[in-house]
Amino acid sequence: MTLTDIEPFTVQRPAAGQDPSAEVPPAGHFIGGSFVPGSGADTIDVVDPATENVIAQVPAGTAADVDAAVEAALAAQKSWGATTPKERSEVLARIANIIEANRESLELLESANTGKPRAVVEDDVSSTIDTFRFMAGACRTLTSLAGGDYATGHTSVILREAVGVVGVITPWNYPLLMAAWKVAPILAAGNSVVLKPSEQTPLSTLKLAELVAGQIPDGIFNVVTGHGRTVGQRLAEHPAIALVALTGSVVSGQAVAETAARTVKRVHLELGGKAPVVVFPDADLAAAAAGVRNAGFWNAGQDCGAACRVLVHESVAEEFTRLLVQEVSTLAVGAPGAGDGVEIGPMISRPHFERVRAALAEAKAAGLHAAIGGNVLQGPGYFIEPTVFSNVPAGADIASHEIFGPVVTVETFGSTEEAITRANETPYGLSASVWTRDSALSLNVPKALDFGTVWVNSHLVLACEVPWGGFKGSGYGRDLSLYALDDFSRTKHVMINHGA
Ligand code: NAD
Repeated sequence: MTLTDIEPFTVQRPAAGQDPSAEVPPAGHFIGGSFVPGSGADTIDVVDPATENVIAQVPAGTAADVDAAVEAALAAQKSWGATTPKERSEVLARIANIIEANRESLELLESANTGKPRAVVEDDVSSTIDTFRFMAGACRTLTSLAGGDYATGHTSVILREAVGVVGVITPWNYPLLMAAWKVAPILAAGNSVVLKPSEQTPLSTLKLAELVAGQIPDGIFNVVTGHGRTVGQRLAEHPAIALVALTGSVVSGQAVAETAARTVKRVHLELGGKAPVVVFPDADLAAAAAGVRNAGFWNAGQDCGAACRVLVHESVAEEFTRLLVQEVSTLAVGAPGAGDGVEIGPMISRPHFERVRAALAEAKAAGLHAAIGGNVLQGPGYFIEPTVFSNVPAGADIASHEIFGPVVTVETFGSTEEAITRANETPYGLSASVWTRDSALSLNVPKALDFGTVWVNSHLVLACEVPWGGFKGSGYGRDLSLYALDDFSRTKHVMINHGA
């Protein structure tokens, strides 16, 4: 196949756009178990990125709104923190059941607010349900070290406690799922939550609040909508918040950590990524190319773990690139309502679309070769062609920074040592993958890679039982698994003197 055989990408569109208006949740903050108006008059437009239509407006929250939510969360946490794991488990299982019973409404809202194809929103909602179910079970297994007599005449008891009120700040790329990754373990450990969704994608989180209102204790789950610099900033600085957890960009993580330091608040950060995909010469090249088709372009590449930076051995680079271009040429771009075949939706917003467009233009100006794609697509909507840059030189800008779009770069390496060094040459440390059939490489290379998750012959497969989180610039703290419960709880040592 040559490039001239490849059909150019076009945007598939539905005859009539989806109308989410019947599902839009009440406009207001969710505080103490009900929706309340914001204290300010400003609002934020919520836009469908596939049509550019405004589909809702939410309050631009203020510090006073955060303070009101923290007050409600503090009051609720006292009794919630005193519940047994069994009682908390029942509440989490109830939330999972409520989401499952309302999945179509959540899917419609999420895809209208993000432009995600049906397969992606279905996966998001299924994973959200599974996260609550997993944490419902996991919280009943929470233990601490057994007590014992470690000093003469003294018995030690080690308690595991909630930390208190947790502030949560979520991104736009998986709005409902990222909320679930935080809220489920935070509630499971006996904390209460004040959550700020991304100002661009608040609808599914507000819908969750609407659905669980009256079904869970009032005040344990609060939502304040608004901007990072106001609502997010107040969550990071509020003295009564014990821990602040953010999923987002490195810059936002740095701002939150700096502010949180002033109150010596615990911080949990899941930040950006630039995942290398290391393809050895013995790999199943067709499987690797298919793996990058899926994991590099899932959610239009707007994924912190996206398989976006291929490092392939020079001896198989040509063959691998041919296979990858062939795979990518079959991706279907479109608006969510255009049918189940759509795989690639739009960028989330006009500014993000412009950022990706600029990155493509800079790469081309630097002389890089787009083996496929490389252009923006006709609007309305913020669509970009699935793109592969081949023969990318070491250190190229587009292969060093998070693009967060449907863009994959292919570099080559000559030796295993070079592959490891080059893969680690990134400020990020979230995830990576290694493609080989060699059993020694399949263990030794992951050990040498500085990333929180390393897949072998796979990429972007997640499960609630295993931790997710990064090293280096990708942050610290773990989502999912029992490790998240560790992060959102604290241990206390009680030592009883029974001597004399
Ligand atoms: P972003 O950093 O722009 O925004 C994330 C959230 O932080 C938003 O709610 C925003 O309002 C808030 N925020 C921004 N500035 C803030 C500040 N100064 N103080 C407090 N809050 C602030 O990120 P985004 O564009 O919404 O999401 C994309 C980013 O998220 C990418 O970098 C991606 O890699 C990352 N991400 C990481 C993971 C992970 O698990 N590591 C998962 C999803 C997304």
